[in-house]
Amino acid sequence: MKIVERHVIIFSIAMLITAIGLFIYLPFIGIERKPLTIDIEKLCRVDVDENEWKYVVLHHSATDAGNARRFDRYHRKKRKWPEGLAYHFVIGNGNGSGNGKIEVGDRWKKQIHGAHTANMDLNRIAIGICLVGNFEKDKKPTKKQFRSLVSLVDYISKRYNIPESNIIMHNQVVQKGTACPGKNFPYEQLIDRIGF
Ligand SMILES: [Zn+2]
Repeated sequence: MKIVERHVIIFSIAMLITAIGLFIYLPFIGIERKPLTIDIEKLCRVDVDENEWKYVVLHHSATDAGNARRFDRYHRKKRKWPEGLAYHFVIGNGNGSGNGKIEVGDRWKKQIHGAHTANMDLNRIAIGICLVGNFEKDKKPTKKQFRSLVSLVDYISKRYNIPESNIIMHNQVVQKGTACPGKNFPYEQLIDRIGF
């Protein structure tokens, strides 16, 4: 066999191995990257006039599991709120809804006030985001939940020109003490990641 022929064969085998390797590996990259490609702009799009949002208030559900539908039922039946789900967005933790999944509430679609703080004046201009979980206990938001939260708050704050000082936790709203969203809520990291 000539040296040139041998090189061609070795090169062909190497290319074949590389191709098989990529074929096996690429789908995994795709799955890994999927959560990052949430189209927040599309998710937040509404058919009505947008409200003049001035604040974002962050909450936890204080439950280990849940989703928008479950909280909606609770707010309608137990709290007797006809508009249902108090928050505008719910971010799942994989327990009751997808890990990092952002659910859009009816109040967002209708661009109406929330019911997520005891201050009604604030509720009219504050976007309520609830992360499923109890961060007052030993838990923190999941990585995917946090990533979704960063993307959502980043988009919202830029779209409505909401300054860093108006991205607040529920327990920063003046009212009778609430621990929400819990002592393990990564507020500083969130603000850092958004980079005002
Ligand atoms: Zn709260």
